[in-house]
Amino acid sequence: MSEIMGLKAKLGLDVFKPDARPHISIKPGMERDPRLKRAVLVCPAGLYSLNAAGEVEFTIDGCLECGTCRLACGTEVLEWSYPVGGFGVQFRFG
Ligand code: SF4
Repeated sequence: MSEIMGLKAKLGLDVFKPDARPHISIKPGMERDPRLKRAVLVCPAGLYSLNAAGEVEFTIDGCLECGTCRLACGTEVLEWSYPVGGFGVQFRFG
């Protein structure tokens, strides 16, 4: 009988090689923009959060490079690109 894996367990199998230059960042001054709050809801890795001051915070660690935040928020609030070759996520499941 096979064991069912949860999302966190599946994500835990992936390997990440971070680049010195983050491939996604919040544009300066856009931390309170309402469009950015969409990323808190849609990022499958949970990398965006809302702090007590009402600003969106972001960490690149664990990014799946899915592009969902780019589509949800737009490039007016986010700088978004893929990591350079050899860096980023290596999927290990499926
Ligand atoms: S690309 Fe995907 S995983 Fe990475 S921060 Fe955006 S929504 Fe999250």
